[in-house]
Amino acid sequence: LSLLVCMVVVTSLLTGCGKGTSSSSSKDGAKKIGVAMPTKDLQRWNQDGANMKASLEEAGYNVDLQYANNDIATQVSQIENMITGGCDVLVVASIDGGSLGTVLANAKSQNIPVIAYDRLIMDSDAVSYYATFDNYMVGTIQGQYIVEQLDLDNQAGPFNIELFTGSPDDNNARFFFGGAMDVLNPYIESGKLNVVSGQKKFEEVATLNWSTEEAQKRMENLITAYYANGTKLDVVLSSNDSCAIGITNALVNAGYTSENFPVLTGQDCDITSVKNILAGTQSMSIFKDTRTLAAKVVEMVGAIVKGEEVPVNDKETYDNGTGIIPTFLCEPVFADASNYKELLIDSGYYTEDQLK
Ligand code: BGC
Repeated sequence: LSLLVCMVVVTSLLTGCGKGTSSSSSKDGAKKIGVAMPTKDLQRWNQDGANMKASLEEAGYNVDLQYANNDIATQVSQIENMITGGCDVLVVASIDGGSLGTVLANAKSQNIPVIAYDRLIMDSDAVSYYATFDNYMVGTIQGQYIVEQLDLDNQAGPFNIELFTGSPDDNNARFFFGGAMDVLNPYIESGKLNVVSGQKKFEEVATLNWSTEEAQKRMENLITAYYANGTKLDVVLSSNDSCAIGITNALVNAGYTSENFPVLTGQDCDITSVKNILAGTQSMSIFKDTRTLAAKVVEMVGAIVKGEEVPVNDKETYDNGTGIIPTFLCEPVFADASNYKELLIDSGYYTEDQLK
C-alpha cells in the first residue's frame, strides 16, 4: 500500500512540474481553473461554487472545485493540490484571509495568477485581483434600514440595540461592521440608540466563523444578563444571515414573537432567513446575486488567460497589506418582504417552493 501511495504522490508531483515554465493545460488542451470555497455549511457558498463551476465549464475551462469544511489546513492542502494538479488560475474564497501566504507564494513562483473571491486574502503579494460585492455598502444599507425602520430622525427613542458582526479572520466583517456603524454611531452618540450591553467594539461583537451557534449563544447570554428584567430589545444589527438565524433562535426561545420582534438585519438571502422574513421575525437581508459575482469572475479569468485587460472598477479600497489589489465591486441590494418576489423568485434565484 505504501508503495502505491508513493507512486501516486510522485506521479502527481511530476504532472505538476511543467507548471513553472509554460502555462500547462489539462489533457484536452483546455485551461484548468482551481476554485477553492470555504464551506458547504452555508448555502451561499454552495451557490457560488455551483455557479462558478457551471459558468467556467460553459466558457470551456476544466474546473477543480473544492470545499474546505471551514478548516484552514484543508483549504491550504486543497490549493496545494490545485497547484500540483496544473491549474492555470486560482480563484479562492478564503476561510482565514491571513493564512494562505505560504501556499500562494508557491502559486506565484509558478506564475499562477490568483483571484480573491468575495473575501480579500491578506498579506500575500500573490493576489492579482479581487472580486466581491461592495462590502462597506452592505453595512451602510443595514444601518440605513435600522434608521428608517425606527424613524430615528423623528423619534427621540431611546431604542435598545445589540450589535453582531462576523468572523474576525474575514476582512469583509470589518467593512460590513464599519459601514453599519458609520451610519449608526451618530444615533448612539446622541442617545437615540442605546447599546444596553455596552458591547460596541468589533472584537466584542465578532462571531468566529460566522457561526449560527456562537451567535445564538451570545444572544442568549445578552438576554440573560441585560434583558431578563423585562427591558425590551428593539433592534439587533446582524452582519449576515447565519448570525441572524442564531439570534432569531435565541429571541424566539426567550418569548419574542413576530408581534414584538426586534428589527433584525441580515445578509445573503439564505433560504432559512428569507423564510424568517416572510414569517415576520428577521426584518431584512442583503441580496448578493452570486450569479453576478460568478459571471464577473469568469470574465476576469478569461481576460487573464487571454492576456487582455482585466475588468476592475475599484483601485483604492482594498489594501491587503502588500498594496492595493485591483478589485471589481458588484452592487449589493436590499431585500425584504416587499421585494423578495421580484428579486428572488422572478429572477429565477429560488423557486416559490423552496421558500415554503
Ligand atoms: C461573505 C458573506 C457571508 C459570510 C459568511 C462573508 O465573507 O461576504 O456573504 O455571509 O462571509 O460566510
